[in-house]
Amino acid sequence: MTAPQQYQLVETRLQEKLANGTTRCNLCLWRCKIGHGQRGFCQAHVNRDGTLYNLSYGILSSIDIDPIEDKPVKHYRPGTQVMSVGSYGCSFRCGGCHNLDISWGVKALDELARGESREAWVPPQSLVDSALRAGVQGIAFTYSEPAVWLEYIIDVAKLAHEAGLYTVYVSNSFVTDEALELAAPHIDVLCSDIKSLSDAFYREICKPARVEQVLHSIKKAQELGIHVETRTNIIPGKNDDPEEHYRIACWVRDNLGKDSPWHITRFFPAYKLSDVPPTPESSLFAARDAAQRAGLTNIYVYNDKGCDCAAENRPVSFYLGASEDEIHEVRKCAASCCGDDGVLLKKYEQNLTD
Ligand code: SF4
Repeated sequence: MTAPQQYQLVETRLQEKLANGTTRCNLCLWRCKIGHGQRGFCQAHVNRDGTLYNLSYGILSSIDIDPIEDKPVKHYRPGTQVMSVGSYGCSFRCGGCHNLDISWGVKALDELARGESREAWVPPQSLVDSALRAGVQGIAFTYSEPAVWLEYIIDVAKLAHEAGLYTVYVSNSFVTDEALELAAPHIDVLCSDIKSLSDAFYREICKPARVEQVLHSIKKAQELGIHVETRTNIIPGKNDDPEEHYRIACWVRDNLGKDSPWHITRFFPAYKLSDVPPTPESSLFAARDAAQRAGLTNIYVYNDKGCDCAAENRPVSFYLGASEDEIHEVRKCAASCCGDDGVLLKKYEQNLTD
């Protein structure tokens, strides 16, 4: 399929047609069952007359340029720079999210669905051209969960590889095997969170997520030939027990290898966890000691950095060499299926037993 040259709904890559015009999205492990006019949990996929479409294809909420080490990735092309991009729609609703405005984007997606959007629309080739102009060596998909945006990521990543750029996928790893298999040939690096080894912790963040599913996806990514690095953001009182860190490190050692990099990052108060203090340095170093006991050889502690939030970024137009008007002109999907009323009828109603 050729990439569209103006904003329009793009068919969701992994969808299953069910009875009565309902569709199942198989991009992430929510596996949302979506009826006509509904959107998935991420808000980015909509069922229109029995077909699922991605609303956020080509819509950029943020761009930044930074060293690959900031992703954090330390063992792939060190010293190079990446253009980091993200869009609206995420499969988690983390209580301590630092990227609310640029990742969840419920308002932005509502406007897209109603055909009233003024968001930045960037065709895949324009993004790759901008990365080349900026002189970076890679493109990183980050800020929200890339699986939700997979249609665009694959189109960009193919062109990026043709242009000699590498690709990085920063993920919560709540993704399906099918999505990973589809993405793997186009992705060079996965930086994945292992938020905790406790199902209760994941339940608090994203109801259906289980530790076992996340770990399975991370291991599978490595088996598919992607360079994998993992990260744990330590939140005081939530996942700061060194015994748990020891078990995470043992899992990394036994499943990814003792030399696989593990990054320990510091939590800073945000959103629903605004009352939780920043991680004390002692917790970060206790986690490092636990990982050393487990035999990991590449442990990185970040005691001055909490997230890769792009809230302070320059506007998207700055990086694209385009005027605000040129890229912020998305109003209505060009596809005839949308009609005059836009595509939104009602939002996803969660039913985990379906
Ligand atoms: S949350 Fe979004 S990406 Fe995940 S299954 Fe549901 S619709 Fe698909």
